[in-house]
Amino acid sequence: MSTYDAIVLGTGGVGSAACWQLARRGARVLGLDRFPAGHDRGSSHGETRIIRQAYFEHADYVPLLRRAYELWGELEEKVDDKLFSQVGLLQIGPREGAVVSGVLQAAELHSLDVELLTATESERRFSGFRVPAEMHAVYERRAGLLYVERCVQAHCAAAIDCGAELRSGVNVLSWQDSAAGVTVRTDQGEFSAAKLIVTAGPWAGDFLRAINVPLIVRRKHIYWLPTAQPEYQAAHGAPAYLYELPHGVFYGLPAINERGLKCGEHSGGQVVTDPLHEARLLDPADQDRVLTFARDYLPGVSLTPAHRSVCFYTMSPDENFLLDRHPQAEHVFFAAGLSGHGFKFTGVLGEVLADWALTERTKLPVEFLSLARFH
Ligand SMILES: Cc1cc2nc3c(=O)[nH]c(=O)nc-3n(C[C@H](O)[C@H](O)[C@H](O)COP(=O)(O)OP(=O)(O)OC[C@H]3O[C@@H](n4cnc5c(N)ncnc54)[C@H](O)[C@@H]3O)c2cc1C
Repeated sequence: MSTYDAIVLGTGGVGSAACWQLARRGARVLGLDRFPAGHDRGSSHGETRIIRQAYFEHADYVPLLRRAYELWGELEEKVDDKLFSQVGLLQIGPREGAVVSGVLQAAELHSLDVELLTATESERRFSGFRVPAEMHAVYERRAGLLYVERCVQAHCAAAIDCGAELRSGVNVLSWQDSAAGVTVRTDQGEFSAAKLIVTAGPWAGDFLRAINVPLIVRRKHIYWLPTAQPEYQAAHGAPAYLYELPHGVFYGLPAINERGLKCGEHSGGQVVTDPLHEARLLDPADQDRVLTFARDYLPGVSLTPAHRSVCFYTMSPDENFLLDRHPQAEHVFFAAGLSGHGFKFTGVLGEVLADWALTERTKLPVEFLSLARFH
């Protein structure tokens, strides 16, 4: 007999949300993680994440984002904390480039409110962000930032409040599916459940080898650039930003404290094979690229970082998420390969996984994220 209705392997971004979604429906849930909620070893740390709706990557994400916004609101109410700030998002690039044209296309398809600005209009309105004369900007007012560690902690607290059992300091070694359910082997014994949800972030590959889709982990560096200028401060209405440039995609978030404006490169990143033991040393070449970008486009920030951090992207082959039932294990569901843009979705991905684990179906339109596209 199973002890739990569901075990969640990894209670970071997606897993913590899945725990809440399962527990709030009365399921007996066990969440397992090596590290405590809000830790800085995986992919869900570094103060802030961008959330937006006019999705240039793929317009099919938009219905999920609408639900994601609702769920972040529900979570804020549940834990009585502010997790989202609507600071807006300024995205800059060539008019026909992937970003500007993709944002406009998604906005048109789904009737979203975005403004197309010329370089001059953008610089007049957002004086901290230089825009080359031949480029355009799109501004999405409803976009904003999520306080990433607080979101994970809030999902965990909400899950515990609804009766979930969350254990940190547990190293999961393997799982096994059988007709009766799933057994999970850890360094602290075995646990069994009717269903298993695998949300192991950069370690997903260790548990999902049999899905036969390569997941590549990339190391990403982030820098905080001090500035006293109001045009970079969230409290003064400064937006999050993203630039599509010929030499790479750079992005960041407004200052929320004295560390300053957050800035990093979305493109590139060194491939790593062991994120757990990865040395988190400064990469001078990466820092040079980011500081050169900041020098050229962000005139009011210091080029001496006050703080830096290392985080991981887990890339799927087409950079869209993998969200499905395990092809060889009927009691196992997973979310993996979030490819550096998954945090804003963690609430809604948790809801889909809970739907599947408890009812075998979901109303949310996630077929485009299934494994079928690779086989
Ligand atoms: C620098 C950076 C900037 C980003 N910016 C954005 C952004 O602006 N907007 C956005 O939407 N997304 C962004 N992302 C992407 C987003 O943060 C990730 O897609 C998301 O956080 C991934 O969540 P996850 O649950 O898959 O992984 P994680 O949050 O890392 O969770 C996985 C969990 O599994 C646990 N685990 C794994 N293996 C084991 C094991 N063997 N035993 C026990 N526990 C285990 C880990 O400890 C971890 O807690 C960014 C990512 C990075 C790195």
